[in-house]
Amino acid sequence: MHHGSCLCGSIKYSVDDNLKFIVNCHCRFCSKAHGAPFTTLLFMPFLKFEMMEGKELLATYEVKSINAMRCFCSRCGTRLYNYSQPGGMISLVVATLDTDVQIHPVANINTGSKCSWFRIDDELPQFSSVPSQSEFRQLLSH
Ligand SMILES: [Zn+2]
Ligand SMILES: [Zn+2]
Repeated sequence: MHHGSCLCGSIKYSVDDNLKFIVNCHCRFCSKAHGAPFTTLLFMPFLKFEMMEGKELLATYEVKSINAMRCFCSRCGTRLYNYSQPGGMISLVVATLDTDVQIHPVANINTGSKCSWFRIDDELPQFSSVPSQSEFRQLLSH
C-alpha cells in the first residue's frame, strides 16, 4: 500500500497498486495543468485508489476533448489525478506520492504534442500518442 497527499496535506489518499505503468506524459493538458514540460503519471484502475481524507476539498475540472476530469485540491491547487470515467482509469500524479518507492517511468508518451522548447534526453521509448495495452505489456516485459 502506498500513500500520497496534496501540498497543504488536507487531501490524503492511498493506492493499492504495483506502480508499474509509469510514464512521462508530454501532452498539452499535462503541460498546462502542471506548469511543466511533462508530468510523470501512473495509470491505474480507479478501484485501487482510495481517498482517506479531504474528499470535500477535491475540485474537478472537466476537459471535454479528452473526456477526462482533472482532480485537484481546492485549497492548495495540487493536481492529484485525472479521471477518465469511460475507462474507469485514473492517471495519478506520481510526484504527490509520499511513500518512498523504487519506481521509474517506462516511456515518454504523447511526444507528438510536446513543448517545442523541451528536449527529451533520456533513453526511454517514445510514443507520439498513448501506447496501446499490448505496447504497454511489451514495455513492462523488458
Ligand atoms: Zn491541498
Ligand atoms: Zn498528459
